[in-house]
Amino acid sequence: MRIILFGPPGCGKGTQAVLISEALSIPHLSTGDMLRNAVSSKSEIGLKAKDIMEKGGLVSDEVVLSIVQERVANSDSKKGFILDGFPRTVNQAERLDLILNEEQKIDCVLRIKVDEDEIIKRLIDRGRNDDKPDIIKNRFKSYNAETQPLIPFYETREILFNIDGMQEVEKVSAEIKKVLSEF
Ligand code: ADP
Repeated sequence: MRIILFGPPGCGKGTQAVLISEALSIPHLSTGDMLRNAVSSKSEIGLKAKDIMEKGGLVSDEVVLSIVQERVANSDSKKGFILDGFPRTVNQAERLDLILNEEQKIDCVLRIKVDEDEIIKRLIDRGRNDDKPDIIKNRFKSYNAETQPLIPFYETREILFNIDGMQEVEKVSAEIKKVLSEF
């Protein structure tokens, strides 16, 4: 199964992605994790991404697409995968369609819906490098301007499923499992 986990920063995508990945034995492809690894290893991609990530902006589509394309082509992605944090722009979504062959289409997009004020608190508690109040604000700005338009993009394909992210982790996970069991 090929799944996209979609939602604003701090909505719990990472946590849920790990649970789905374990339950379905498919790899969890997090562009945030890949980029953070690139930054720590000071690779060429890491050097390009570092400043943008620290400010809460979006890394260029070209850079992100290059890492996703490589990862999706990996043999462990043949039986499916769960994308977390990608696509984040309509251009990334269109390019993803081109990367994937006809028989590799995305099966479902799980949209985790949360209350913005509540998750800002969650993010501040998480305390990652890019979880400082000003930077969080920028990440929401990027989300609202660039990522939200993906909702109608996938809605018209009828593969978007809404999940209530304002519940306990187990309950969110149960809701996701219910949607996935219908595939
Ligand atoms: P969160 O889920 O909390 O928003 P992520 O770990 O997914 O955080 O991403 C962290 C940062 O990595 C983003 O703020 C952004 O700078 C960069 N990033 C991750 N994925 C993408 C992407 N698909 N396109 C552009 N930038 C990205």
